[in-house]
Amino acid sequence: MTRAAQITLVPGDGIGVDVTEATMAVVGAALQRCGLPALETRKIDAGAAYFRETGQDIQLGGEEAAGQADAIFLGAIGLPSVRHADGTEISPHLRLRDRFELYAGVRPVKAYPNAPQRLADARAAGIDLVILRESTEGLFYSAAVHGRSQISDTEVRDTLRISRSVTERLHRFGFRLAERRLARGKGGRVTCVDKANVFASMAFFRRIFDEVKAEFPAIATGYNYVDAQALDLVRQPWDFDILVMENMFGDILSDLAGGLVGGMGMAACGEYGDAHALFQPAHGSAPDIMGQDKANPLAAILSGAMMLDYLSERLGVAGYDDAAQLIEDAVQAGFEANALRPMEFGGDMGTRAVTTEVTARVQGGK
Ligand code: ATP
Ligand code: MG
Repeated sequence: MTRAAQITLVPGDGIGVDVTEATMAVVGAALQRCGLPALETRKIDAGAAYFRETGQDIQLGGEEAAGQADAIFLGAIGLPSVRHADGTEISPHLRLRDRFELYAGVRPVKAYPNAPQRLADARAAGIDLVILRESTEGLFYSAAVHGRSQISDTEVRDTLRISRSVTERLHRFGFRLAERRLARGKGGRVTCVDKANVFASMAFFRRIFDEVKAEFPAIATGYNYVDAQALDLVRQPWDFDILVMENMFGDILSDLAGGLVGGMGMAACGEYGDAHALFQPAHGSAPDIMGQDKANPLAAILSGAMMLDYLSERLGVAGYDDAAQLIEDAVQAGFEANALRPMEFGGDMGTRAVTTEVTARVQGGK
């Protein structure tokens, strides 16, 4: 019998708690259907509410526990009303990202039928791309939380850092992802998004892309400057597969791309390093709707499917792959049948109703 996968659960704040519960229900059903053992979960208290109560942003030993797990699943962290004394946000998850060197941020952007569609073009139904955002350096390297900005009264400087070590691994990750998508009949093309015509750091980013590209002759490639990419994402997003880019470009374009295919409640996210991975919906804690059964859990549920996909490789058990596919198919079929109508999109289904519907489909009841 396959060993159970060990997962550190960080439900966190606000709707993070609701969508984590929803995800575990769906993931549990998928594992059961595939004859795999239930996840061994360990819940870690962390976030703004925990900080308000205890003065700590994560429970003692929480980071170490996360480091021992096969994967980390996080709901959402942060409440606008709770901050550190210096005004900064409660952000233990950023520390996890640094500590475990989760350099590859993956944001799938996929159009589902009957979900809001912003572009009045039939081809928009075919949007199925991935934003691959470097997540540990770039312009965020000197972000205020790291204390690396140079600040004086007359001038402030932030530094954009592109290192060979991280960038090689990022691009390899992108090409491997392209190979896997190609094997599933999706795209298989990586576009390097940069500003290589202006910045030395970006020319370096592109040069390393070219070096790594030589290792993957079967994968098609392209280049786009980030400004042109913004235009193309609005004009012809269906033409793209994987878009790899520096941290801040990824921050901006992933929101733009997410906006094309619905709302935050559909934005799944995986953050990968060489030895660890963390999965979370890309949305925040949405305190305006917390505890009201209004949150759309699909971003979290789809992040849960990404986690199963990762476990399949990590544990070397193909069955996890099938479990991931079951969830993705359930969401796809649910939308097609107009049986998924999240309140976020003006529908009549709250968090629990959406979860019940996806679970039933995963179980094969529909
Ligand atoms: P953060 O700084 O953590 O990213 P944010 O200020 O960007 O947070 P979010 O919490 O991501 O804000 O969400 C913004 C708004 O979008 C929420 O207030 C909520 O109304 C809506 N929203 C976000 N996620 C969902 C969801 N899963 N279901 C329904 N609505 C959502
Ligand atoms: Mg946000």
